[in-house]
Amino acid sequence: MNILAELLTNEPKYRLKQIQKAWFDLSVNNYEEITTLPVELREKLKNLPWLAVKMHKILKSKIDSTEKALLELSDGELIETVLMSRESLKENKGSSEWPVEERHTICVSSQVGCAMNCVFCATGKVGFKRNLTTEEIVDQFRFWQRRLNGRISNIVVMGQGEPLLNYDNLKNALNIILNNTEIGPTKITVSTCGIPEQMDKLLTDKDFPQVCWAISLHSAIEQTRKKIMPVHRKDFLKFLVDWSQRYHKLIPSRTHFIGLEYLMLAGVNDNEKHLKALEKLANKIPRVKINLIPYNDTNSQGLSKTSQEMIEYWHDYLMKAGFVCTIRHSQGQDIAAACGQLCNNFNYD
Ligand code: SAH
Repeated sequence: MNILAELLTNEPKYRLKQIQKAWFDLSVNNYEEITTLPVELREKLKNLPWLAVKMHKILKSKIDSTEKALLELSDGELIETVLMSRESLKENKGSSEWPVEERHTICVSSQVGCAMNCVFCATGKVGFKRNLTTEEIVDQFRFWQRRLNGRISNIVVMGQGEPLLNYDNLKNALNIILNNTEIGPTKITVSTCGIPEQMDKLLTDKDFPQVCWAISLHSAIEQTRKKIMPVHRKDFLKFLVDWSQRYHKLIPSRTHFIGLEYLMLAGVNDNEKHLKALEKLANKIPRVKINLIPYNDTNSQGLSKTSQEMIEYWHDYLMKAGFVCTIRHSQGQDIAAACGQLCNNFNYD
């Protein structure tokens, strides 16, 4: 049990809800300032840290507006979290003017390190240390919210770690954010390398919020996928088709897509045979969105980027075949903040 839970043992249940609400109130800066709590309780809580994460270092990209923060946890462990900001045009009905609005997407980590060991990812090379607590996940959000002094538009759980292997803490953290902010479930995407038992579990778990899912596929051919993702289980692709159909039956909503993430690696998973295999698989998945990802360099032996022309050829082919398909625009490469590059050891000085 954590210290806050211990201190609240004899308190009514709604006290925790009041505290969680205050966590997201930017005018409150410590437990003593939560005016909805009785004075004695505030006194008891006053020495608790207001955030479970402390900023250790922060880097700003010089080529785009990406920021990456190295955060320190109470036991001295470090994690990274990323902020991606971009301007987009806001719909303005009845007017010919399109005001520009700034959109902020944060990428949060779910574990310290990662046990999955995907060959292309830098996080796996650090190894696995521990799961993040609920507060440590929530507080990556609060950290950016305070830094931005305002609204975060989207959350992607695509930082360090495998979110589905930290199921309970992830679920609690997402529910706390959803219950206390304006973020809706379709503004949250959780990315997983695909853990079948946990994917099954979340379909029968009424408390798991209806967020969007992205599956790190990276190959629609079993042998290739197994080679680059050691976590791959035999018949995962068959499982994925069946799971997607059950998922859509459960959530018959037009806004809930299933994302397939496809990292393109030269000579590994990017020839015509792989493209046809992806097309065949994607045809069996209802409401699918394919996201082609250029490889961000992680010094992984023998791996290199598929050419931009080839990525575009795949994109056009898949679009013509009727799929929603995008090419991921990598941000923050100069500060090693792009997908797969989070390993805490970038030179922050
Ligand atoms: N464990 C989860 C979430 C973390 S990785 C997962 O596997 O989905 C987030 C995304 O970044 C995944 O799609 C992952 O495959 C991708 N990624 C990892 N290494 C990468 C690299 N070197 N270049 C580009 N994308 C990478």
